[in-house]
Amino acid sequence: MADTPIPLEVRHITKRFGNAEVLKGLSLKAHKGDVITLIGASGSGKSTFLRCMNLLEQPDEGEVIVHGEEIRFKQTRHGREPADWKQVVRMRAKLSMVFQSFNLWAHMTLLENVIEAPVHVLGKPKKQAITHARQLLERVGLAAHADYYPAQMSGGQQQRGAIARALAMDPEVMLFDEPTSALDPELVGDVLKVMRDLAKEGRTMIVVTHEMAFARDVSSQVIYLHQGRIEEAGPPEQVLNNPHSERLKQFLTPKH
Ligand code: ADP
Ligand code: MG
Repeated sequence: MADTPIPLEVRHITKRFGNAEVLKGLSLKAHKGDVITLIGASGSGKSTFLRCMNLLEQPDEGEVIVHGEEIRFKQTRHGREPADWKQVVRMRAKLSMVFQSFNLWAHMTLLENVIEAPVHVLGKPKKQAITHARQLLERVGLAAHADYYPAQMSGGQQQRGAIARALAMDPEVMLFDEPTSALDPELVGDVLKVMRDLAKEGRTMIVVTHEMAFARDVSSQVIYLHQGRIEEAGPPEQVLNNPHSERLKQFLTPKH
């Protein structure tokens, strides 16, 4: 439908840390079902860009629009801040994020982790949240681990648990920041498999990753960042198989 709001749009995002401008006017539009992958060298601004999308970092300039609703900002002595943090909390519930590591709360079982936000942020009845959580754990292959604590699970299981926890909010968009980078190589595949399934189901996702095969297979768009700018963007066939930018060619060339 033409009038369905776009899940996430950001426009001209600029971010400075002190004197360093680390994001230089970045824009991106995620339509329903899009999988957008962000690639680029360490320090190019991928994480900061992702964190600006859900206001974990405050962009100095630019707009963030979630499902058609624009975040309102105000200028303070300390810089630009959201005008209404309640609005941010509401928006964040629509943008679940999965980080590189330390996603699950250590003092809670996996099941408790997954029901926490639905019960305490969305106000879902606990029984209903538990039923949904068990379905999600089944989907990520962790039905038998509901009562485990994070320390009793492998890194890959913890990441799949983190994905189940993110899904429990039924988010408009899922944001992933290198979800497999901290994992032992043999655990990466199971996590990517879950993410591939989500992409196939039509989940809207923005994924920072170094997994080029994954990016090639599932992306609707690949964005290559260099020093806080979009150096090249487009469908994976173009950006990954037929790049124009010399820097991107270098970046994609295996180093050994
Ligand atoms: P990437 O995720 O692509 O590796 P980041 O977004 O983490 O890049 O970092 C982009 C730049 O911003 C880097 O130069 C980094 O050192 C700097 N940076 C990131 N976070 C902060 C911060 N909280 N304070 C100061 N500088 C930061
Ligand atoms: Mg990063």
